[in-house]
Amino acid sequence: MANDVKAMGDATLAEAGRDFIRDIVKADLDSGRVKQVVTRFPPEPNGYLHIGHAKSICLNFGIAEELGGRCHLRFDDTNPTKEEQEYIDAIERDVRWLGFDWGAHLYHASDYFDRLYSWAEDLIRAGKAYVDDQSQDEMRATRGTLTEAGQHSPFRDRGVEENLDLFRRMRAGEFGNGARVLRAKIDMASGNINLRDPVLYRILDASHPRTGTAWKIYPSYDFAHGQSDAIEGITHSICTLEFEDHRPLYDWFIANLNVPARPHQYEFARLNLTYTVLSKRVLTKLVQDGHVSGWDDPRMPTLAGLRRRGVPPEAIRDFVKRIGVAKANSVVDAGMLDFTVREALNKSALRRMAVLRPLKVTIENYPEGQVEELVAVNHPDDAAAGSRKIKFTRELFIEQEDFMENPEKKFFRMSPGREVRLRYAYFITCREVVKNAAGDVIELRCTYDPATKGGNAPDGRKVKATIHWVSAVHSVAAEVRLYHPLFSKPDPSGGEGFTSDLNPNSLELLSGARLEPALAEAQIGVPVQFERQGYFCRDRGFMTEGHVFIRTIGLRDSFAKDVAKEKAAS
Ligand code: ATP
Ligand code: MG
Repeated sequence: MANDVKAMGDATLAEAGRDFIRDIVKADLDSGRVKQVVTRFPPEPNGYLHIGHAKSICLNFGIAEELGGRCHLRFDDTNPTKEEQEYIDAIERDVRWLGFDWGAHLYHASDYFDRLYSWAEDLIRAGKAYVDDQSQDEMRATRGTLTEAGQHSPFRDRGVEENLDLFRRMRAGEFGNGARVLRAKIDMASGNINLRDPVLYRILDASHPRTGTAWKIYPSYDFAHGQSDAIEGITHSICTLEFEDHRPLYDWFIANLNVPARPHQYEFARLNLTYTVLSKRVLTKLVQDGHVSGWDDPRMPTLAGLRRRGVPPEAIRDFVKRIGVAKANSVVDAGMLDFTVREALNKSALRRMAVLRPLKVTIENYPEGQVEELVAVNHPDDAAAGSRKIKFTRELFIEQEDFMENPEKKFFRMSPGREVRLRYAYFITCREVVKNAAGDVIELRCTYDPATKGGNAPDGRKVKATIHWVSAVHSVAAEVRLYHPLFSKPDPSGGEGFTSDLNPNSLELLSGARLEPALAEAQIGVPVQFERQGYFCRDRGFMTEGHVFIRTIGLRDSFAKDVAKEKAAS
């Protein structure tokens, strides 16, 4: 509840194009503390970008765009064991897709390996760093706790010459992985654990996507991050709250090194979404263990997954704007993202007719072999979108769920003896229900009223329902994939236990759908509205059954309904 109120307050600020970080930047520009704002988005290329990163991208690139500055894309590529070229390429693609451009300002922490190394030697020479031979476990055991000071390493008082010699031999590859590290000599009793002699360099015998095997030692994220900002002249280093406690360490580096500039760090709350995990570690596991088909599986919260599902980039930017930027952590309702997507697609998507679960209809009084062309509008609110011709024939398909043999009280669609309107076509009346040996309804025998062409009766009689349909002979076959939330809990575990929170029914395959022929030409990834059903887009690939369409999102709050259904089922 408190979170909702908070989110609403932030959203109000956001609608006004304001938040506390923008306020800080504007004040710094006004006071002349900075002449031009320089921000950066610093992903580690160890996975694909997700909707949480989009918040950071929109914030950093957005501020630069709005306030006449620039934003760098910098790969924080300091851990070659987890980083890959595939991720680097995907990140660049996804930032561009989201609508941002770093121009000439593409950087890599690895570009600074030489400078970082010499800064590390400077610290050694100043007696502010030492080589530690302890194992990782020993270091962990002596680090202390929140209430207890840590213990000094037995190697803490090594002399400068010995430290320099060992550090250079670490670099030369004389020691194995993990045999030694370089640590800053700060304060093992500090109340801030980040200041208890943090690791600056570790030995890693791994090939780096950019520097190959040139380096045997790699800087820690903490040692590389702030200095990279200083090298690039970043004025406002914007990051998420978990780095608040690291700020004193970054400031210590900046104060103790001969850096060209002094960046200032500001922290904001990361995006959390219900029914969604945004931990890269978990997302990597989902892909590696085959719980999803890949990083761009349409159920993934990755930008690649959202794009494949047909979510337009402007919907994501709009979503980020609505949630605002706050200093306190909160959880955003996933329904809010859906709402934004629906709103964007309602404006842009062309309307089409498609029958997801077909039921055959034969119009007994319609001449066999006759084909009539009817006009259907492409968008009800946009005349410029034009119209198209659809073909009416004696045999049609309608949606199974638009028929009930024994209709409930509030069911006004097709049932025996009842007249309904076929969208853009005629009134038809159900005369007979045909069943197979198992008792399933397999066909409706109907009649049509030729006087109702276009959908109105000259005698003024009304029908209570309009349903969609396709011609049996002219429609094309498709496999349709309906996606439901990947997790069945509103707050799925972001830890080891995440698999038990997975929704076993997150993918629903409909193999026998029938589409109006215009859909055979639909562009991959560009959603259209299947009237009365939702927004769908064509997926890459062509199955033996025909085209593949995936549901971007249902027409109304299908999300809440899905969740309710799953709750009822479990
Ligand atoms: P990890 O560090 O665990 O690998 P990460 O998601 O922090 O994962 P980074 O590549 O370091 O990955 O993220 C790049 C930038 O995106 C960072 O500045 C980070 O603060 C920001 N970011 C990451 N997740 C979110 C989120 N959920 N909401 C907002 N910003 C985020
Ligand atoms: Mg990170």
